[in-house]
Amino acid sequence: MRATTRLGIMGGTFDPIHFGHLVTAEEALVQFNLDRVIVMPAGRPARKTDVEVTPAEHRYLMTVIATAANPDFEVSRMEIDRPGVTYTVDTLNALRDVHGPHAELFFITGADAVWEIVMWKDAERFRGLATFIAATRPGYDLEAAQQVHSEELSRIDIHFIEVPALAISSTDIRRRVAERRPIRYLMPEAVAAYIQKYGLYREARQS
Ligand code: NAP
Repeated sequence: MRATTRLGIMGGTFDPIHFGHLVTAEEALVQFNLDRVIVMPAGRPARKTDVEVTPAEHRYLMTVIATAANPDFEVSRMEIDRPGVTYTVDTLNALRDVHGPHAELFFITGADAVWEIVMWKDAERFRGLATFIAATRPGYDLEAAQQVHSEELSRIDIHFIEVPALAISSTDIRRRVAERRPIRYLMPEAVAAYIQKYGLYREARQS
């Protein structure tokens, strides 16, 4: 038995969750030998305070539905129940308090979001708090991104995984629903049914 727990925390807006996210979580679980992955929908995403985001409860419920059958995945309400703008550093500190020094934290999210996280609040505190796993879509120019973000890279422990399934995107799914185009096979069927039941994404958005 291992003395430490390797805990994946999968951060995102999940508006909506799709197979790209789920494949990312599974890849991270296996590649980094994690004990489990906690899917963590953001309450008020820091990058999106001035754009329209679907109410947190809907986004949370869709993540629960999408992950229900996988014993290695769970969903946390921590960020949606915390008032104010959602900062990853607050989440990692809270998880560190809950799980103690014997848990190793791995924060999994999209590569572009990682640069934002470490540019923002309390960036100097990330080293030692968590390892970052940054997922990229096919065609993402990692070399160029690493050059542009060399300063952020020096502040954190980060690994990159390319996830072909991330050709699927939440933005594209929202657009498809608004245009009455199919979303089947881009996400678990029950999530697509939830979107239809509650009439989500029917109106086109600016973002
Ligand atoms: P975003 O800007 O909407 O996403 C950036 C890119 O990453 C998009 O292509 C997105 O694709 C992808 N992505 C997002 N979450 C992903 C995931 N879990 N797995 C794979 N790809 C993912 O990012 P966001 O959703 O607002 O933020 C992502 C995470 O970073 C959240 O946990 C958020 O709280 C955190 N964050 C924190 C700060 C901060 O603390 N200052 C700042 C920014 C972000 P999709 O659109 O298809 O998801």
